Amino acid sequence: RETPRFSTAALTEELVIPPVQVNYTQLLINGKFVDSASGKTFPTFDPRTGEVIAHVAEGDAEDINRAVSAARKAFDEGPWPKMTAYERSRIMLRFADLVEKHSDELAALETWDNGKPYEQASQAELPMLARLFRYYAGWADKIHGLTVPADGPYHVQTLHEPIGVAGQIIPWNFPLLMFAWKVGPALACGNTIVLKTAEQTPLTALYVANLFHEAGLPPGVLNIISGFGPTAGAALASHMDVDKLAFTGSTETGKIVLGLAAKSNLKPVTLELGGKSPFIVCEDADIDKAVELAHFALFFNQGQCCCAGSRTYVHECVYDEFIEKSKARAMKRIVGDPFKKGVEQGPQIDTEQFEKVLRYIRSGIESNATLECGGGRLGSKGFFIQPTVFSNVQDDMLIAKDEIFGPVQSILKFKDLDEVIKRANTTRYGLAAGVFTKNVDTANTLSRALKAGTVWVNCFDVFDAAIPFGGYKMSGIGREKGIYSLHNYLQVKAVVTPLKKAAWL
Ligand code: NAD
Repeated sequence: RETPRFSTAALTEELVIPPVQVNYTQLLINGKFVDSASGKTFPTFDPRTGEVIAHVAEGDAEDINRAVSAARKAFDEGPWPKMTAYERSRIMLRFADLVEKHSDELAALETWDNGKPYEQASQAELPMLARLFRYYAGWADKIHGLTVPADGPYHVQTLHEPIGVAGQIIPWNFPLLMFAWKVGPALACGNTIVLKTAEQTPLTALYVANLFHEAGLPPGVLNIISGFGPTAGAALASHMDVDKLAFTGSTETGKIVLGLAAKSNLKPVTLELGGKSPFIVCEDADIDKAVELAHFALFFNQGQCCCAGSRTYVHECVYDEFIEKSKARAMKRIVGDPFKKGVEQGPQIDTEQFEKVLRYIRSGIESNATLECGGGRLGSKGFFIQPTVFSNVQDDMLIAKDEIFGPVQSILKFKDLDEVIKRANTTRYGLAAGVFTKNVDTANTLSRALKAGTVWVNCFDVFDAAIPFGGYKMSGIGREKGIYSLHNYLQVKAVVTPLKKAAWL
C-alpha cells in the first residue's frame, strides 16, 4: 500500500512542521484496516494545488453492513457497554494523551487534506480535540438515573442506558472536531459507532481511530468508513440495525437523512445543519474592535463555518466608517499556503466549493451590491479566493439569504433595534448570532430576541466542550457538546417495583 509523503522543504523556513506520511487509507472495521468490499478507491486532494494526496478505500452499502455488524456485536457481546464507566473513562483519557503526543503530525495532516492554516489546526483545533475527550471522559462515570417519587406504593427508578449502535455522518470543514463532537459523548455513554467521514477529508479520522485502539478501545466499538454520501452515507442512515443517527452537514442533506431514518427503522436523528448568522454592530460599539471581530466571524476557516457571521448588520451612524475599515482589514488579510507562518486564510476545500463561492460573488455584483474589495480567485492553482467584501447588501439578495460558505462578507445597514431583530430573524436558519455593544440592556434585549442556538455577545466563535451547540429552525434538531449531547446517546428506562406485597405474587 502506498504511503504518500509530503515534503515540507519549501515551507519550513518559518514554521516547523513535521514530515507527514499517509499511513491509513483503508476502512477501519472491527479494529482492523481493510479494503472496501468492491476493492474501489477514491482520491483525496490537496486544496493548495488540486493534486492527489492519496487514494482511499471507497466504502459502500456492503461495507456499512460489515461495520454495523461489527458495532452490533461489540455492543451486544463485547466488553465496552459492560465495563465500568471508570474504565471507559480511562481509555478516553489515554486517547486524549495520545492526541497530544501526535498533535503536530495530526495538525499537519488536517491542513494537508483540508487547507486550513496549520497554526489554526495545531494551536486551536488539536487542543480542543484533546479537551473534548477529557471532558466526556469526565462524564462517563457521572451518568446515572434517578429515583422517582411515584403516587403509589412503588419504588421507581430510571436507568440511563446506552442507545446501541450510533451512526454518525460528518462534514469536511472541521474533520477532527466534528469527529470529536460525535464520538466523545457516544463513547462516554457506552455506545458503539459507525462513523462516515466526508469524502473530501477522510485522512485524519482514520489516524485518530487508530490511536483509540492504541489507547485500549476494544475492536468493533469505533468503525470508520470513508466514502460518498448518496452511497455509504445513505446506507448508514437507512440501516435497520443502527439505533441512532447523528448528522452534520447541509440542510438539504439533513432532510434526506431524516427521511431515510424515518423510512427505515425510525431511528432518532440529531442534525447540525447550515446557517446564515447575523452579526449586529450597534451604534455604541468601538468600531475598530467591531471591524476586527466581524472580520473574524466571517473569514475564519476560509468562511467555511456553519455559524459564520455572514450577515453583518451595522447601525447607520457608524456604517460608512465600518465599511471603509472592513475593506481595509480584508485587503490586509494574509492569504496563502496554509503551512506558512502568519497565513490567515488557505484555499477553499475543493473545486466545487470554489466555483460555488465565485458564483455567489457574481450574483452579488449582478444584484447591485457594492463590491468593496476582492471578488476573484487568487493565483492560478489550488482553490484560493480573495477576501471579498460587499456593502449596500439588501435582505432579499441571494448573498444575504443563502449560505455561501466562503470568504465573502455581506454588510447591511440598520436604523433601530426592533428593525434589526426582525430582519436578523427573517431567515430559515437559526444557528448562531453575534452582538457587539457596550450597553448591557441592548445585549440582553438582543440575546433574548434572536432566534439562534448560540448568541455571542462581544465575542464570536467561542467554543468549548461544555458549551452546547445547535440550531433553531432549519439549522438543526438537538444540541451537541456539553451535558446536552449525552441525552442524544442514552435511552431512559423506568423500572417500577412494588414496595411490598406485590398483588401478583
Ligand atoms: P453535505 O451535506 O453535502 O455533506 C455532509 C456529509 O453528508 C458528508 O459526509 C457527505 O458525504 C454526507 N452526505 C451527502 N449526501 C448524503 C446522502 N444522500 N445521504 C447520507 N449522507 C450524505 O455538506 P458539506 O458540503 O459536506 O458541508 C457543508 C455544510 O455542512 C454546510 O451547509 C454547513 O453549514 C454544514 N455544517 C454544519 C455544522 C453544524 O454544526 N451545524 C458544522 C459543519 C458544517
